[in-house]
Amino acid sequence: MSTGIILKRDMIGNPAKLETGWQAARSRMAGLPDGGLNMAHEAVDRQVMAGNGAQTALIFLGREGQRHEMSYAELAGNAARFANVLKAHGIGKGDRLFLLSGRVPALYAATIGALKAGVVVSPLFAAFGPEPVRARMQIGQANVLVTTEAQFHHKVAAWRSEMPSLRLVLIIGEEAPEGCVALGPAMAAAPDVFETQATSAEDMALLHFTSGTTGLPKGVVHVHQAVVAHAETGRLALDLRPGDIYWCTADPGWVTGMSYGIISPLCNGATVVVDEAEFDVDRWYSILERERVQVWYTAPTAIRMMLRAGDMAAEGFDFSALRFLASVGEPLNAECVLWGNHVFGKPFHDNWWQTETGGIMIANTPDMDIKPGAMGKPLPGIEAGIIDRNEETVVEQPDGVIGELALRPGWPSMMRAYLGQPERYAKCFVGGWYLTGDLAMRDSDGYYWFVGRADDLIKSSGHLIGPFEVESVLLEHPAVAEAAVIGIPDETAGEVVKAFVTLKAGIAQSGALEKELRGHARKRLGAAVAPREIVFRETLPRTRSGKIMRRLLRARELGLPEGDLSTLEGESR
Ligand code: ATP
Ligand code: MG
Repeated sequence: MSTGIILKRDMIGNPAKLETGWQAARSRMAGLPDGGLNMAHEAVDRQVMAGNGAQTALIFLGREGQRHEMSYAELAGNAARFANVLKAHGIGKGDRLFLLSGRVPALYAATIGALKAGVVVSPLFAAFGPEPVRARMQIGQANVLVTTEAQFHHKVAAWRSEMPSLRLVLIIGEEAPEGCVALGPAMAAAPDVFETQATSAEDMALLHFTSGTTGLPKGVVHVHQAVVAHAETGRLALDLRPGDIYWCTADPGWVTGMSYGIISPLCNGATVVVDEAEFDVDRWYSILERERVQVWYTAPTAIRMMLRAGDMAAEGFDFSALRFLASVGEPLNAECVLWGNHVFGKPFHDNWWQTETGGIMIANTPDMDIKPGAMGKPLPGIEAGIIDRNEETVVEQPDGVIGELALRPGWPSMMRAYLGQPERYAKCFVGGWYLTGDLAMRDSDGYYWFVGRADDLIKSSGHLIGPFEVESVLLEHPAVAEAAVIGIPDETAGEVVKAFVTLKAGIAQSGALEKELRGHARKRLGAAVAPREIVFRETLPRTRSGKIMRRLLRARELGLPEGDLSTLEGESR
């Protein structure tokens, strides 16, 4: 919902527009000698070839305070060693490699090394249990697994023999159980040069599983050409410049942590901060200060947790190095944008994309005024529309009307398949559009406003209510840290709005507060849209990538089956 506030770019100190276009972006890639394209070559080798080998590529911050830097030249050498290890075991182009480890140096060398060898990389989130790991490796027909000994014993050993495609298990460290190979000694013995496999733009590079927010995760296929979008959108939407100190807080197990935590920043010659530990307000503020982070890409969940901890928690820290702040993954409430401006002296720039789009599509770029609460505008080269979908046809909607967000296919990082689900993939394309499954509205200035996922839309007394609008209004109240809104069946209205709310640190739940919140929402939204009921919760169910699972709140509320919970965070499954 619009706050009516506009943050002028002159006030934010953002620069003027940059020249762009997919052709121009493609021509900025180095390419392979035979005209092919390889993600790892663009991300790392070309930096070394351009004389930037000595620059720090990655700064690893260990859980216990260790700090370790790896230069572009070292990363290139480690990746080549890794590629040689794969080759020595008969693994090559088109084979599938899965990653299951925390954010440690070997994970990064393995990612770049595998891509260099033309091997498809599929990252898994390290906190998955045995079943989600097995299910994803089964769908992806895994040939190689890179993991730790503990992860292997706990999650893989029991069923390894039942997966004949899995030919090689590499264990990070110096030792490995029987039937596995220790990566440390294997890499030490391998040469540090490797001729990049001749991959073409359309060869498969990455297999990403979606977050599972709306149901069973899908395996999304991306090709080497996606690197064109990774590089270009990092420059346009994240303002990445050579030499920048950059921190993407997403885990490489999710598409954001791969595309913008590894590939994009390296393509743009940045130095990437990697924190092994999980979210902690004080730790994060310290990292921003100590590492002098300039560009920071994070997520609404983390921002709301910082907001919840209060301004005091940020006091005394020096955030003066920060130049550009961005957010993705969930709707970013206007409140969070303004809070960022207040605490860091810079607003968060929201941007929107999906695992399927492979890269940022809609963004608040540095050259735009920010309307807090809006996702921004389509990036150059991206055509977006708001459409109304009927069975076989789509109708474009004018400004100001809510509809499904759609994109014209053709950008380089567009998914090429849902692995093993061709019909589902085909259903995403209607009338020359790719349909995103998200609802949005475009205003007369061309800004896109997120309304909700199509599945989460509430229909009450003839009104269509997007949960984001209601949640954002609840967040305006000083007591509220987070809110999730669902529709529950009602005899007269069809559905009524119910809200689940967590409170800021030190604020007690009470009947009086519930009444006050309902009053606030009614005043801002009107009685038809405001929640009929508000309940307080200590936490809200969310995916491991930080997205609120409204479908689970609804299922629990209605006593329905809970569906796939493989990506549910925290709670026991
Ligand atoms: P699944 O498809 O398995 O249900 P998912 O859609 O959450 O999971 P992702 O591809 O990780 O998996 O997330 C993309 C979705 O996240 C988008 O479709 C959108 O609903 C939401 N999203 C991402 N960025 C934003 C944003 N800036 N504002 C609002 N929503 C966003
Ligand atoms: Mg999705």
